[in-house]
Amino acid sequence: MVESTRADHRSRAAGLLDGLRGAGRSALRIGLSGTPGVGKSTFIESFGTYLTGRGLRVAVLAVDPSSTRTGGSILGDKTRMERLSRDPNAFIRPSPSASHLGGVARRSREAVAICEAAGFDVVLIETVGVGQSETMVAQMCDLFILLLAPAGGDELQGVKRGIMEIADLILVNKADGDLRPAALRTVADYAGALRLLRKRPQDPEGFPKAMPVSALHEDGLAAAWSEMQDLAAWRRDAGHWAANRADQAAHWFEAQVREGLLARLDQDARARSHMATLARAVAAGTRAPEAAAAEMLESLRSP
Ligand code: GDP
Repeated sequence: MVESTRADHRSRAAGLLDGLRGAGRSALRIGLSGTPGVGKSTFIESFGTYLTGRGLRVAVLAVDPSSTRTGGSILGDKTRMERLSRDPNAFIRPSPSASHLGGVARRSREAVAICEAAGFDVVLIETVGVGQSETMVAQMCDLFILLLAPAGGDELQGVKRGIMEIADLILVNKADGDLRPAALRTVADYAGALRLLRKRPQDPEGFPKAMPVSALHEDGLAAAWSEMQDLAAWRRDAGHWAANRADQAAHWFEAQVREGLLARLDQDARARSHMATLARAVAAGTRAPEAAAAEMLESLRSP
């Protein structure tokens, strides 16, 4: 229902989500990002199975901005996580498709809330390392993990500074076989780079951290989970957890109001035709963009 765009579904979903707030449940929401091929599905499969093996219930959701174009999603595809999708303690949901990234984000966020209320202990939210999707996923998580592949040389991979700054844990995957030495070098490189970042108030000593894992050989998963738990516990005790969730709630409230306003503009035939007329005038050079925008905004003021 939360993925539906039908107006009656939307209003029932809003009522449902409002009711869920009282469920009193709290899942650990973990964001996971990495470029295609780095091993996200393999990692989710083995890490998810590791968690269910410890008696935890795990939900896997995906935020895939490219699904706006294809209308369907590759992320979260059950065939990629065959073992986990058969696990009765796991739930896997592909990325919702939507006409814009904001729509994907809203639906994913609502799905996170529902999974949490349904009693899942861990909600993994996967996204590909493109565009705005990481920032968006970070806005729905308690912890954010960046998955990397071992680098060929000893230079850092072209990871954007922005994502380094939102990552809590950098996991260098494929630390096995011939790739292990390169993976360990990559871990050391990133550990060095992370030390140069400004310390964030929401981090205890030693975080963000870089570690090697092998999703394929299920190696390093327990160590990674232990770090995630330590960090989560520290943040809970220090009050950052609640503060972060409060910030996120405020952010989504505002985002949704903004989005709703834009949707209203799109749905208003009179406003749309006024926009089109002004846009033509601006394109023809008979009106300045600023003056035309001011006129448009003024016309929206009174119905
Ligand atoms: P995704 O595109 O990020 O979801 O990546 P996949 O999970 O599909 O993995 C891409 C390729 O990397 C596949 O051929 C995997 O078998 C391989 N791979 C994933 N994890 C590991 C690992 O830990 N070690 C090794 N050697 N290969 C891995």
